[in-house]
Amino acid sequence: MEQLYESLGISRPVLDFAGKILDSLEERFREIDDMAEYNQLKVIRAMQEARVSAECFQATSGYGYNDLGRETLERVYALTFHTEDALVRPQITCGTHALALALSSNLRPGDELLSISGKPYDTLEEVIGIRPSCGSLSEYGITYAQTELKEDGSFNYDAIRNAIRPNTRMVAIQRSKGYLTRPTLSAEQIGEAIAFVKGIRPDIICMVDNCYGEFVEKLEPSDFGADMTVGSLIKNPGGGLAPIGGYIAGTKECIERAAYRLTSPGLGKEVGATLGVMQSFYQGFFLAPVVTAAALKGAIFAANIYESLGFKVVPGAKEKRYDIIQAVEFGFPEGVIAFCEGIQAAAPVDSYVTPEPWAMPGYDSDVIMAAGAFVQGSSIELSADGPIKPPYAVYFQGGLTWPHAKLGILKSLQRLYEKGYVTL
Ligand SMILES: *Cc1c(COP(=O)(O)O)cnc(C)c1O
Repeated sequence: MEQLYESLGISRPVLDFAGKILDSLEERFREIDDMAEYNQLKVIRAMQEARVSAECFQATSGYGYNDLGRETLERVYALTFHTEDALVRPQITCGTHALALALSSNLRPGDELLSISGKPYDTLEEVIGIRPSCGSLSEYGITYAQTELKEDGSFNYDAIRNAIRPNTRMVAIQRSKGYLTRPTLSAEQIGEAIAFVKGIRPDIICMVDNCYGEFVEKLEPSDFGADMTVGSLIKNPGGGLAPIGGYIAGTKECIERAAYRLTSPGLGKEVGATLGVMQSFYQGFFLAPVVTAAALKGAIFAANIYESLGFKVVPGAKEKRYDIIQAVEFGFPEGVIAFCEGIQAAAPVDSYVTPEPWAMPGYDSDVIMAAGAFVQGSSIELSADGPIKPPYAVYFQGGLTWPHAKLGILKSLQRLYEKGYVTL
């Protein structure tokens, strides 16, 4: 094993240091394995109950009427998330699209959308119209309001009560911190907020952006009364195999409105050929609990390594996790670059290229990105990126297998060690 690591460029001091850190993580890793086991059983039970069969993997074309695979998969999602219905489609192109669909289909002119977890994910700003954009909710006369989380990351209930107006139609909650430094919300915390909102006005639709959160806990926001739970299939629930797609799990009414918007009024869920992607959707969802567990182990390993070397990590090394993202603050640009070089060098795909900081649309500084993925942009696969500006933090996530996540982190540490930025 050591020889193989050596042939991959990992030196003895790095291996020894990492080995000590790993020894201290046995208990944490056991908890993650336990959670993966729970979620794996949950998914298998849903697949059995929905009577998944080999016919479900057949490709359909054209209108896609009577697509058994599509209908059964949506049942599997609904059974796993404990919702009345679900929409799981390759025609939903990404997470942003799934969220835009959930919002635009369930809001009408004159309605107000209220985000109670502060600023939403960057790409939603144009969807909502916070930044003006063609076809935004704002252009359709849907207004937007927002309450901030408190200093400690919890919901500001007084502010929420005051922000709910007669035309508030939907409340949006983002589970993951995304690329902010606030803590990620647990499903239970989200449940409390939903109960609070429903206590004021039971008819308000509660929607949760569940990106990066699926299978990180035993329960999902849908188990706590969310009317819509929304995410991307090139993150956790696709298990690394889904080549495209998004999902919405929720109430019958919300899903029907989303389906009427995705295809057409009158057609709804009845059309949408699946063109042969169904097997990857099923198999990816089947693997998702253990894939998510691998990514979680990687995040915890990285947090413990870099915290013990004196860097600030978010979440902290010992903190509980509610998503798979790990931030490491290096405080100097070379740290971010070396880290990303290490992640890239560990990849199964494109390992020979060197990532470089570059100007990117929508960013006010150069950004460096490392990814060597089977599916373009897939962030359940091992990936890292960081804007080249203070506090010089790198955001890192994914890893389809724990040994790969481990190798990526070892490679990153090796780079920093070789360049003299850390002493072991
Ligand atoms: C990734 C992400 C999105 C958007 O998903 P894309 O697939 O990148 O469009 C939205 N919200 C959160 C919290 C995310 O992490």
